[in-house]
Amino acid sequence: MTDTKLNLIAGTWIAGDSAIENRNPSDLTEVIGLFTQASSDQLTETLERARVAQAEWAAYGMERKQAVLMAIGNELMARAEELGTLLSREEGKPLAEGRGEVFRAGQFFTYYAAECLRQLGENADSVRPGVEIDVRREPVGTVAIISPWNFPTATASWKIAPALCYGNAVVWKPANLTPASAVALAEIIDRQDIPKGLFSLVMGSGGTIGQQLVESPMVDAISFTGSVPVGKGIASAAIQNLTRVQMEMGSKNALAVMDDADLDLAVSLALGGAFGGSGQKCTASSRLVVHAGIHDAFVEKLVAGAQAMKVGHALEDGVQMGPVVNQQQLDENLAYADLGREEGAELACGGARLNMPHEGFYMSPGVFLNTTNDMRINREEMFAPLTSVIKVDSYDEALSVVNDTNFGLTSGIVTQNLARATDFRRNARTGVVTVNLPTAGTDYHVPFGGRGDSSYGPREQGRTAAEFYTVVKTAYISAGTPV
Ligand code: NDP
Repeated sequence: MTDTKLNLIAGTWIAGDSAIENRNPSDLTEVIGLFTQASSDQLTETLERARVAQAEWAAYGMERKQAVLMAIGNELMARAEELGTLLSREEGKPLAEGRGEVFRAGQFFTYYAAECLRQLGENADSVRPGVEIDVRREPVGTVAIISPWNFPTATASWKIAPALCYGNAVVWKPANLTPASAVALAEIIDRQDIPKGLFSLVMGSGGTIGQQLVESPMVDAISFTGSVPVGKGIASAAIQNLTRVQMEMGSKNALAVMDDADLDLAVSLALGGAFGGSGQKCTASSRLVVHAGIHDAFVEKLVAGAQAMKVGHALEDGVQMGPVVNQQQLDENLAYADLGREEGAELACGGARLNMPHEGFYMSPGVFLNTTNDMRINREEMFAPLTSVIKVDSYDEALSVVNDTNFGLTSGIVTQNLARATDFRRNARTGVVTVNLPTAGTDYHVPFGGRGDSSYGPREQGRTAAEFYTVVKTAYISAGTPV
């Protein structure tokens, strides 16, 4: 019998009310483990302890904090193969992607380790003679972190690392679909020189323990990544306590391919952007807006490329696309494949259930042709290995289609024309814009986030993260003697 993995509550690993089983989406016969579910009382206990631990941590000193974050980052990077394998087993992304994600998670910690030492404030003269002003940033307090399953280690790390860097306590509720990666990261953090209860892991369902967490007046800030409906619910709960929120949600990213694009580059960017992570990326290229002048040649190579992709077990050599994460996601994806056809699109390839030697949630990468931007398949986030080609007659039309969405996380253009690239960079209404690069894949030292329904609140990552994880204090200082 597998041991049940525990939660980290007020600095102690303990069992909760019940447990859930986690299975490998590449091979449903493989049980990855059993994972405890936090009780309501345990959440209260860990939030109470977090407040005390945060004050201890804030007094640690910058070099001691820096050493903690550096050690976490170094261990993640050193164990990228092992922890990436675990991640790929429970989430289903190919091993190269799982390994890369864990390594990137390590880089978030080493980046914020360096930020621990960059304690820059502002100093100014007052309008009153003899008075000086000191503007500094202080920790917010206790931060609730709620993360999704599609990047279980990286997303959590780009929140936990700055939260700790800027002196906060963390209560982390990971997605219940990827608890093994969460426990592995929590074990690394717990082994460091940190106050007892500074960092907590509360596995449990979103609707129960997640909801209690976001409604708690003991939480000072909530950083959430997930779907739009859940994000809106969290914002409503947070406003009752005037808790600050930062939310990264879905998107419907477009890659515009111009008639002057390098054809092979455009096809490779589209394939990687649409089908990497089985399309389960908030930055996925799910709309391919293609100029009529290159459309037919592009489509021919795109469909051939999608058909040639090797789909299989996430840990198998040479696999380019693993399964999707669970039965519900698979059912929704297949329903979208049907919906696209009903709306009049041509499903040129894929979009179908695949039978493999291992029973898992496999489907073939699908390409819709002859689509229009008003179809539901082009307006709703599918989170599926499905992409749509939208044919346009000009650059101006392409830009207008790219911007015609409720979302606004990323967009990209493939072109060799500097004027078009510059115009796109300035006028695409997304938080991230790329030129001759994929819509997915960003750096860790610069801001990340979107517009419209994709994001709410201050940006994540880079030095910008300080805006969310700190509060600003303005001090006025006088020498106390008349001047
Ligand atoms: P969900 O919104 O379903 O869940 C996200 C997290 O919220 C999970 O930990 C979930 O817990 C939790 N949760 C669910 N209900 C509540 C609640 N009422 N109160 C508090 N927490 C709750 O999203 P998915 O996990 O399905 O992730 C996929 C979505 O995330 C996609 O829409 C995708 O676009 C988006 N995403 C956005 C990114 C970005 O940066 N913009 C990056 C990655 C993903 P549990 O699952 O255990 O129920």
